[in-house]
Amino acid sequence: MSYSAREPGAPAADGDVSLCVPHLGGNESAYIEECIRTNFVSSVGQFVGRFERATAEYVGTAHAVATGNGTAALHIALIVAGVQADDEVVVSTLTFISPVNAIRYVGAWPVFIDAEPRYFQMDVARLKEFLETQCEWAGGVARNRATGRRVRAIIPVHILGHPVDMDPLLELARRYGLIVIEDATESLGARYKGAMVGALGDVGCLSFNGNKLITTGGGGMLVTNDDAMAKRAQYLTTQAKDDAIEFIHGAVGYNYRLTNVAAAMGCAQMERIGEHIAAKRRIAQRYDEQFSELPGVRPMQQAAWAESVFWLYTILLDGERYPAGSRQMLRALDARGIQSRPLWQPVHRSPAHQPNDARCPVSERLQKDALSIPSSVGLTEEDQQRVIEGVKAFASAPPTASRILRP
Ligand SMILES: *Cc1c(COP(=O)(O)O)cnc(C)c1O
Repeated sequence: MSYSAREPGAPAADGDVSLCVPHLGGNESAYIEECIRTNFVSSVGQFVGRFERATAEYVGTAHAVATGNGTAALHIALIVAGVQADDEVVVSTLTFISPVNAIRYVGAWPVFIDAEPRYFQMDVARLKEFLETQCEWAGGVARNRATGRRVRAIIPVHILGHPVDMDPLLELARRYGLIVIEDATESLGARYKGAMVGALGDVGCLSFNGNKLITTGGGGMLVTNDDAMAKRAQYLTTQAKDDAIEFIHGAVGYNYRLTNVAAAMGCAQMERIGEHIAAKRRIAQRYDEQFSELPGVRPMQQAAWAESVFWLYTILLDGERYPAGSRQMLRALDARGIQSRPLWQPVHRSPAHQPNDARCPVSERLQKDALSIPSSVGLTEEDQQRVIEGVKAFASAPPTASRILRP
C-alpha cells in the first residue's frame, strides 16, 4: 500500500504535506559551525553541558543527562531506578514500542495497561485495578500474584503531547512503593495541573528524534531531581569509566552519549521551544474550530487539568459511521498528497512482545479509528487548509459510499 512506503517524520514527496518534520530556523548552523571550527565534534565540548543545563532548567529538574536517543534514556532510567531482571514494569500499551523494548533490555517484563478513550493516555483506573486486585503487598514489596514477580516501576507514556492523569498514578506509586519513570518523549513542554511533565515522577525521559517537538537529528535526555540517579546515569552513559588514562571501568557501561554536534543543534532548538509549542497550539486550535461540527470526526480532546503541546494532532473517527476505521481516510488524504498516520499497534499486540494475556480493547479501538494529521511546527496556513479540506471532503462524502472496502 502506498502509505506504508512513507516513513513517518521523513519528508513527504515534493509538494506533499508532511506529517511532522523538523523546524530549523534559528542558530543551528552557527552552533554546528562552531563545533567544526573548534574541532569539538564528538562527545566532548561545551554544547553537551549547555544543552543539559538548558533542558534541566526548562523542565525544572536539578539534573539532565544527555543520551544518544530517547530509547537509550529509557534503558538507563530503568537501570538507575533499580529495575532488575525478572521484575515487572507497568507500562501504557498504546505507545511507540520503545519503552517496552527498554523494559526487556534489562530483562524485566511489561504489564500492559489500556488507554482511556478521551485523551488516549494510560487509564489510571486500570492501573489501580491491577495493583489492587492482582498484586499482593507484603514487606514493602508489590508482587503480581499470577506470576509471582515483583512489580518495581511504572512507565506512564504521555502520548501525542498530552499528559497522563498523574496525581492518582503518583498516589498509587507511593502506596505500592513503585518507581515512576515518565516517558515524556512526545510531550516535552506539556503541563499537568501547571507542573511540567518529565519532572513529576522519579525520572523523566525525553527524545530529540527528527519528528519530536525539538530535534537534534537523534538524541535523548534523562531528567531527574535525584542526585544519585543522575550521577549513575552520567557514569553508565559514558562507558562507566573510572580512570580515563588507564581505562579502568567500574561497571558494564554504555556508549550512549550525545555528540557535541547534535547538542549544538539542541541548544539552538531549545532557544525556540516556546515558539514551537505556540505553533503546535495554533495548529491544534485551527483544526479544533474546523472539525467541531464535522459528522463522524471527533477533534482531539484536552483534559481540564492538561496543557497539551499537541505534538501530533489526532482525530478519532466514529466507528459506526466508518466501520473500516481510519485507513479509509488515510488513503483519501494520501490521494491528495497529505501524509497521515494511524496510532501504533498497541504493544500488547506486537509480535515482538508475545505471549501476554493483556486485554486492552480501548487501545485496539483507538488503533483502528484514530488518525494523526499534519502537525509540523512549520506547517503553513495554506497547507493546513489543504488538510482541512481533505478531511472535510472525506467526512462529507456519503458514509455508505465510504463503507465499500477495497481488498
Ligand atoms: C520517540 C519516542 C521514544 C524515543 O525515541 P528515540 O527515537 O529513541 O529517541 C520513546 N517513547 C516514545 C513514546 C516515543 O514516541
